[in-house]
Amino acid sequence: MPRKALQVCPTPGCPTLTTTGRCETCQARATRTRASATSKGYDARWARTSSAYLRAHPYCECDECEALPPLLRSRATEVNHRDGLGPRGPRGHDWTNLQAMTKAHHSRETAKHQPGGWNDRDQ
Ligand SMILES: [Zn+2]
Ligand SMILES: [Zn+2]
Repeated sequence: MPRKALQVCPTPGCPTLTTTGRCETCQARATRTRASATSKGYDARWARTSSAYLRAHPYCECDECEALPPLLRSRATEVNHRDGLGPRGPRGHDWTNLQAMTKAHHSRETAKHQPGGWNDRDQ
């Protein structure tokens, strides 16, 4: 008899059975992702900068959306750095370097500028 009931890890797509909520692998990955994001400058200060920017620029500002009439633009949820250097860059909190984007358009933009960027993101 197991002392604790096994449950499937709550991470979507992870089939691992665990007794501790998230399985060890997912727990470790979450910790690593958070740490590396913070070390790149995605910290509390960036959270304030990006949410203030999104309040002032609620719609996607990618090239494709800028070409659309304002009513057809998608609502932005993320902020891109035009220089690609992130919050730690010299203009990381400079609004003229920021660009509001939807999650999908931001991913597309990131992939365009950093070949292989997808794989690097989670490490
Ligand atoms: Zn898991
Ligand atoms: Zn867009």
